Amino acid sequence: MNTRFLLATCTLSFLFSCGAKRKSTEIESAHKPTIAVVNYPLAYFAERLAGEFATIIFDAPSDLDPAFWEPTDEQIVRMQQADLILLNGANYAQWAATASLPFESTVDTSSSFEKSFITIESAIKHTHLKEGAEHSHGGTAFTTWMDFRQAGMQATTIATAIGADFPDQKDAVMKNLAALLTDLKELHTVTAKVVSNLNHAPVIASHPSYQYWERAYRLEILSLLWDSEMELGTEAIADLKKVQEANPGVKYFIWDSEPLPAHLEKLKTMGLTCVVVSSCSNRPASGDFLSVMRANIEALAKLSPERS
Ligand SMILES: [Zn+2]
Repeated sequence: MNTRFLLATCTLSFLFSCGAKRKSTEIESAHKPTIAVVNYPLAYFAERLAGEFATIIFDAPSDLDPAFWEPTDEQIVRMQQADLILLNGANYAQWAATASLPFESTVDTSSSFEKSFITIESAIKHTHLKEGAEHSHGGTAFTTWMDFRQAGMQATTIATAIGADFPDQKDAVMKNLAALLTDLKELHTVTAKVVSNLNHAPVIASHPSYQYWERAYRLEILSLLWDSEMELGTEAIADLKKVQEANPGVKYFIWDSEPLPAHLEKLKTMGLTCVVVSSCSNRPASGDFLSVMRANIEALAKLSPERS
């Protein structure tokens, strides 16, 4: 139970009748805890850990990358009032730095491995079709959960925070954590295995969101600044050709979401096989974090092994 909840309970019991224990117990049971998060992987972890007794608040619109989401004042207030606020850390959700979130209920889920954050040097600005504002990917790389060991550390930090806030739920939460960690460990092992089939040959990615995945699974990724729905004009194709020329023999092209069929065709004519590896930063239209990650693995497993 956190300080704010205690305060609210005390104030309310005072209002009803001073020191009336029965009233405060009733209020306590009527209060469903809330846990606010800044991206879908954290929502998924919180749902797996505490979905049975808490409501998870994740308000980012489904067609945006939550990393560049600017919540409305109303949404910020909703998060400020949550029992727990889970941040991704690593430069994610920069609005949180100025939103005066209550210190005692805010948890930075990646702080345990902040020493191994990756810094991106390029800071070229670009725009995604569905997001109006420009952004750059310079600074700290933030798709931390794509290294599934790091995802496990984030889940563990979340479970510890929930257990500390709701001690009567701690045993159940730790049991849920064990099951979640088993799933994440499996994702890690199987991803390492399917990626090793590619013999660590360089692959091209549409967008710079794979830094931790690249490091964890020993790939070499050459990133463009493409959007899956953008038009592949002369400039975009010239950028791609430059990468191909510098890396002869590169065979695979990774998209974060399903590209247009015309893009698949175009890249095929350029000798590239496309594969979707979603970082699942927003809630998927169907399935969940685990099924999306398993679909990534299946797609990678279908690529013919590179034998050079
Ligand atoms: Zn971008």
